[in-house]
Amino acid sequence: MQNRKNNDILIAFLKNQGFVFQGSEIYGGLANSWDYGPLGAEMKNKLKNLWWDFFIKKNIHNVGLDSSIILNPNVWKTSGHIDNFNDPLIDCKNCKSRYRADKIIEEAFPEINVGGWTIQQQEKFILEKKIACQQCKKVDYTPIRQFQLMFKSYQGVIQDDSSIVYLRPETAQGIFINFKNTQRSLRKKLPFGIGQIGKSFRNEITPGNFIFRTREFEQMELEFFYDRNDETDWFSYWLLQIEHFLSVELKINKKNFKRRVHNKEELSHYSNKTIDIEYNYFHGIGELWGIASRTDFDLSRHQEASKQDLSYLDPITNKKSIPYVIEPSVGLERLLFAILTDAYCEETLEDKSTRIVLKLTKKIAPYYLAIMPLQKQQNEKAFDLYINLNREFDCIFDDTGNIGKRYRREDAIGTPYCITYDFDSDEDNCVTVRDRDTMKQERIKINDLVQYLKDNYK
Ligand code: ATP
Repeated sequence: MQNRKNNDILIAFLKNQGFVFQGSEIYGGLANSWDYGPLGAEMKNKLKNLWWDFFIKKNIHNVGLDSSIILNPNVWKTSGHIDNFNDPLIDCKNCKSRYRADKIIEEAFPEINVGGWTIQQQEKFILEKKIACQQCKKVDYTPIRQFQLMFKSYQGVIQDDSSIVYLRPETAQGIFINFKNTQRSLRKKLPFGIGQIGKSFRNEITPGNFIFRTREFEQMELEFFYDRNDETDWFSYWLLQIEHFLSVELKINKKNFKRRVHNKEELSHYSNKTIDIEYNYFHGIGELWGIASRTDFDLSRHQEASKQDLSYLDPITNKKSIPYVIEPSVGLERLLFAILTDAYCEETLEDKSTRIVLKLTKKIAPYYLAIMPLQKQQNEKAFDLYINLNREFDCIFDDTGNIGKRYRREDAIGTPYCITYDFDSDEDNCVTVRDRDTMKQERIKINDLVQYLKDNYK
């Protein structure tokens, strides 16, 4: 039976096991920054590879890109980020706590969605409903100010207004400004998509909930370009692809995520339709993956501002037009957090002891196999086996502690199979293969092992 434990237990567990560490810990940390330990780094890499494989390599329409983090500031002027990428900031005058005004309203009234409200409407609502400061319980706030979320820096030796640059808050704009280069060089025909994975930065007012909302994070984004007269429902196509990726590729329980359609008022300035896939995190329901119809907003604006022709010439009709765009966009760390939340189980065994097991899908688990000698005498043979298997699979060699403890340790980090070389292995050329989820053990011939493990890698 899966026992869904609260956030604190999961977070402490992930820190302990080497998935996630506090950022800059030996200097007392840096607020809301996290480093990924050996197991977290493995999982992030695997997740990126899976996404890339599914959305780029195996999808006949799509190609990949790797654009810069720092772009010409005109990109952000044109995209609307300099003018619109703000959050409403409000401070408690009494205890100096700082909030996102829209979030305190939504937390106090979960049925309300503040998207599209003006600052004045938000201020009035907070005062009328007497929404108290979460710390000191007073209702005594500063006026709301719009807070620009992009990180600013300077490029070059002279630090003045002319050298201001921004760290990208999304990878998408890097794709739009390379639309023409990509389409021409690869001779792509509509419809086609360009995807990329990379760091994004947002100076969030209220980061938190562990790795759910941070100021530095990675995004995996796809911009899918199609002809506006194309009658295929590409929005639904990509929505279904996302849901398939979550439930089939990553084996996330379908019960734990759901769609949420944005109402008109909350749509971003560039979008005419957006649906979020929300995941039921232990701290609450939150956006995991957004899919937005961005129309021709970005390419048209960039064409106008850059004075470059960003239209697509249809080779059959010979007509030029600016393509429409569907954007599925997900944060790598939010996805990782959802996967870990979903996989974490505490099981009560027959002898009433508890085992923690991370039921990760095999393609995502930090290690696929743990190779262990039953006792020290078998170390050498077991190590040879480890060297051999490590050529094909992600393996860990574990020879410390009794075998029961080692099994528990591997269960806890989600290793799907433990392979034990024991007394009989020299004689019968077999090893014991233990399944993480069923805990069943099977004797398998060493010669058949690679095939067995390949057949079960799904
Ligand atoms: P939110 O409403 O949670 O601030 P958003 O709507 O601003 O998110 P998008 O701009 O749609 O997010 O970004 C696409 C994806 O990037 C999100 O679905 C999320 O997975 C991820 N993401 C956005 N902001 C952050 C953040 N501060 N930390 C981690 N991941 C993020």
